[in-house]
Amino acid sequence: MQVFKGTKIVNGIAIGKIKLYKPPVYEISEDLVTDIAAELDRFEAARVKVQEQQNALYDKEMKEGHADTAGIFEAHAMMLDDDDLIDSCKELMAEGHTAEYAVREGFEAAAEMFRNMDDEYFQARSADVIDLKNSMLDVLFGADTANLQGTEPAILVAEDLAPSETVKLDKSLLLGLVTRLGSSNSHTAILARSMNWPTLIQCHDISDDWDGKFAILDSYNSCIYIEPDQYLIDELTAKQQEDREREAKLQELKGKPSETKDGRKVRLYANIGGPKDIESVLENDAEGVGLFRSEFVYLNSKTDPTEDEQFAAYKKVLEGLAPRLVIIRTCDIGADKTIDYMNLDKEDNPALGFRAVRICLNRRDFFKRQLRALLRASAFGNLGIMFPMIISRWEVQECKEVLEECRKELKAEGKAMGEIEIGIMIETPAAALCADELAEEVDFFSLGTNDLTQYTCAIDRQSANLERFADTHHPAVLRLIRETIEAGHRHNTWVGICGELGADPTLTEDFLKWGVDELSVNPKSILPLRDNVRKVDLSQHKKAESPAPVQTEAKADPAPKTPAPEAKAEVKADKPKGLLGRLFG
Ligand code: PEP
Ligand code: MG
Repeated sequence: MQVFKGTKIVNGIAIGKIKLYKPPVYEISEDLVTDIAAELDRFEAARVKVQEQQNALYDKEMKEGHADTAGIFEAHAMMLDDDDLIDSCKELMAEGHTAEYAVREGFEAAAEMFRNMDDEYFQARSADVIDLKNSMLDVLFGADTANLQGTEPAILVAEDLAPSETVKLDKSLLLGLVTRLGSSNSHTAILARSMNWPTLIQCHDISDDWDGKFAILDSYNSCIYIEPDQYLIDELTAKQQEDREREAKLQELKGKPSETKDGRKVRLYANIGGPKDIESVLENDAEGVGLFRSEFVYLNSKTDPTEDEQFAAYKKVLEGLAPRLVIIRTCDIGADKTIDYMNLDKEDNPALGFRAVRICLNRRDFFKRQLRALLRASAFGNLGIMFPMIISRWEVQECKEVLEECRKELKAEGKAMGEIEIGIMIETPAAALCADELAEEVDFFSLGTNDLTQYTCAIDRQSANLERFADTHHPAVLRLIRETIEAGHRHNTWVGICGELGADPTLTEDFLKWGVDELSVNPKSILPLRDNVRKVDLSQHKKAESPAPVQTEAKADPAPKTPAPEAKAEVKADKPKGLLGRLFG
């Protein structure tokens, strides 16, 4: 028996034979040709055919209910219309190169450009361009790639897998996936997550002689066993069976309340990046959206999205999920998320730089475009607006002033608008420590524990080298979370958590004990989290230890929690009745 390590993407156990997935390697001639027009025609025919293939993959994924993965192929089809990419290939053919040579060089250069970008998201897009290059070459060489997967159920082992290769796989024959390359941000990883296949990437030791061997992929332990012994087979078969039973049981939790044994309710919401995630929110029975990272609307666009384009995206999500509350965070560009068309200066410390609400408050037109789109969309569902990276009260006040300005403009234009809850991210130590003051300005807080941890511990969240020092349960962070919840409740401001820590099962009981009102997590974590919540019994904790949850007027909360009478009285004295009244009355 041999054991090889990798990086896990999706937890699970796969048991069966290995099938090596080996796409064809093409010999491309460097010789020049004289019939340039013929090469241009071949290129164009291949481009149209690959575009048709991508559109067909889009339709197939939509039909199978995978709107998120369908979006990848829609983007691929659009990439094949890119003038820069097409022109760079045409220039090479005009010099006398073959269509194959032009595709290889042109597409490789585009992939290299993505690879050299600072942003991890865009770096991962280079794999999409390489995927398209391979599809173009398959067509130009007339290759038959239909049967690379074999005909028996197997653990597929590959150098890397492109999205179009992954999606073409026959799912009924796929037990699990192992690749030598790949990144956790790649589309293949996204696909693997959305399909829930046990997956290991960066398994550097894969070799051709694994082909056909019996193996167990144990991604819980980030490894694959080649020719395991009987003891391991029995043990991991039992674990696989347990997984199946647990998964089936989790499905039974759909429609059940997210409530502890002693009747304490918490709202379990989903984190999403755009309309493509609506399906997954519904499938996993999320009770609302606690974080719609609106910057993805910007990142997915080549140019600054117009008010109408944004309106269409927000409206689609609000309509698709009504009457659930959908909290849309205003654009959080900067730091690790950069966009060319924003023309932002390079900074020495981007995470401490011009980011999120700092950009919005300095670029009013840009900010107003988004706020107007949000206000217009509010007529179609139940909207919450959340401002990121807040450190001071005046920033919240200024955000609300701009919002009010937009509201007046839209009212004068006769546009319909709905009621809105207003909130802020608590993701800086400054905001957590000033939570009492900030709570007077808003309806809700959402703790962004990813940034809160990075800024509290001075640990760059992007750095792999700091892994040893990064403690996601650092007592300073946990204390700020607890104190923020308590401060919010003193002012009748409900408090959620939308950072990754919200899905950490080892903290669920503490968060509930501290009185958290909402946990917003990756849609796939909703049912496991509901399961956790339903196992908690808070009655064993002393009453004094457990701050009472706040009474909210949250429109999406079907069963508002009972307030502590003192907390309610304090609100009435402290806070003008209904922020909405002040903003939109
Ligand atoms: C956070 O910082 O915890 C958060 C949810 O926001 P993001 O990860 O998008 O920065
Ligand atoms: Mg953040």
